[in-house]
Amino acid sequence: MITRVIPALRLPFNRLFDYLIPEDAPLLQPGSLVRVSFGSRRIVGLVHSVQEKSELPTSKLRPLHSALFNGNPVFTAELLELLSRLSLQYQAPLPLFLLQLLPQIPEKIGEFDSLKIGSAAGNAALSCQQVESIFNPAKITGVITEFANKRPALILVPTVAHGNWLSECLTKSGLRVASYFGELRPSTALAAWTTLAAGRADALVATRSGVFAPLPEGLPIIIFAEEEPSFIQFDAKPRYDARLLARARARAEGRELLSLAVTPTLSAWHTAQNRVLLAEPPDLTLISLAEERRGGFWGFLTERLRAAIAVSLTQRKTALVIVNRKGAATSLICRDCGQRVSCSECGSTMRVYPRELFCGRCRNKTATPTVCPSCGSARLKDNGLAISRLTAEIKKYFTAAKVVEVTGEAPGKNNINGDIIVGTEVLLHSLRPQLEKLELGAVAVPLAEQLWCGANFSDSEEGYALLRGLASLAREKKAPLILQTFIPEHEVFLALGDTPEQFYKQQLSVREEFGYPPAYLRLRLETSVSENLERVRKMLDELLPGAGRQLDQIAKNEYLLQLRSADELVPVAFQKLPKDWRWEVK
Ligand SMILES: [Zn+2]
Ligand SMILES: [Zn+2]
Repeated sequence: MITRVIPALRLPFNRLFDYLIPEDAPLLQPGSLVRVSFGSRRIVGLVHSVQEKSELPTSKLRPLHSALFNGNPVFTAELLELLSRLSLQYQAPLPLFLLQLLPQIPEKIGEFDSLKIGSAAGNAALSCQQVESIFNPAKITGVITEFANKRPALILVPTVAHGNWLSECLTKSGLRVASYFGELRPSTALAAWTTLAAGRADALVATRSGVFAPLPEGLPIIIFAEEEPSFIQFDAKPRYDARLLARARARAEGRELLSLAVTPTLSAWHTAQNRVLLAEPPDLTLISLAEERRGGFWGFLTERLRAAIAVSLTQRKTALVIVNRKGAATSLICRDCGQRVSCSECGSTMRVYPRELFCGRCRNKTATPTVCPSCGSARLKDNGLAISRLTAEIKKYFTAAKVVEVTGEAPGKNNINGDIIVGTEVLLHSLRPQLEKLELGAVAVPLAEQLWCGANFSDSEEGYALLRGLASLAREKKAPLILQTFIPEHEVFLALGDTPEQFYKQQLSVREEFGYPPAYLRLRLETSVSENLERVRKMLDELLPGAGRQLDQIAKNEYLLQLRSADELVPVAFQKLPKDWRWEVK
């Protein structure tokens, strides 16, 4: 007998390897973990199948070294099949995907309890629930324990900081909690990863790579802070969105899944059978900057914003000010010809820093020019609101206050202690759990549209989620929320006065109308040489079975696919090639 193995390795190609099964080996099944020789190394692999014989002559095969957990599988047949689909649809080799989704496994593993895993096809149920504050310990513990209903649960978190906060909170409520955050020592990582299958804990709190941790039949999955973009791995291969993987897993293995968030994504709302959306409209002060300009005020620290900060200071609390642009200004603009100084390498607008210009796209740096590169005029002007400019403006008004700037550029070194914290969006994502320690006296966004205005179909959804997140923070801290904008009539501000349900329905109807996700799956394919349409259709069929015949040719080397789709696993790939091009599929 031989076993066909997926090696957990950084291999650039998709290949399985055959090994002989020794007489005395325990019973192996698809999904068992084994140790095998690979070149001169000994590595871990996953049993893909067990067969009578290999296509290779027996003399060329090596025997497998050992079976982990006495041959007990760690992946169900459904999960193994899903893994193969993922590798295709996310365009990453199976061995690389496996390496990503397995823990580091130590050289020697001691005694292990036997692992129980299982699935219950047909029993999947997707739910989506809004919580007014994701950081209210009593509320969150209540929602999680009610949903889990005495069953242990796998809880996915966007960042380690979220994970630490949640683990502590669940532990205090008396649950046995294990954490799996990657970067653990191999022995700890393996014990944590298998903890639910071994029946040793009530909850496993895991970051995205823990999404395939072995689970007994019927154990549910919870996605905590589901709106957070950190569930997507986009900067390294394999690129994937752990939320979509969790949903696909729940469907394949018949599990209940709960998306828990202040503002669940439109995609979670759209795919859920059960939805609980209870949010009340937030309390906020919306200041029109256009009106301020008409009144002759040209800065961003309007009188009402300054008054709110002053109150926070007298209460000896911290005022939080969000500015989502790094640097001193968003661009350098010529007063004579109106051109913005752009990157000589890629053409993007250069961001202004005190001593240089910086291209956020290709990371090109140049000295600040003294004359306009287009017309030679010396009348160059900093344009747009960015963090250093606002910090300077704040320091001018509040000379005695300790003002701290937080950009998230030095991870782990972000000091968020001060009278006034001026920070980028990072404060609302990976640093969000740290805000829990602060007493906030005011929450302000001097230019709110900066948080989302771009050219993406999902901008409004993103902006809505960010503002609702801020409103939730302000409410929890009993601090006033001040938003300033040039476009108070924008749908995102209007939506804050509606129920979330109304916002989701309105957004979904727009996506339906224009053929965007989550109503539709939309792919644009480009080929570098002229291809026969039938051939391109065949290639697409490998990626998405049956989709090929719906592909249309829209130009010589361009094809468009628009499919009505509930929830497909498409690449969330986002590739950035310095000085060249970038592409995005969402
Ligand atoms: Zn000029
Ligand atoms: Zn550039």
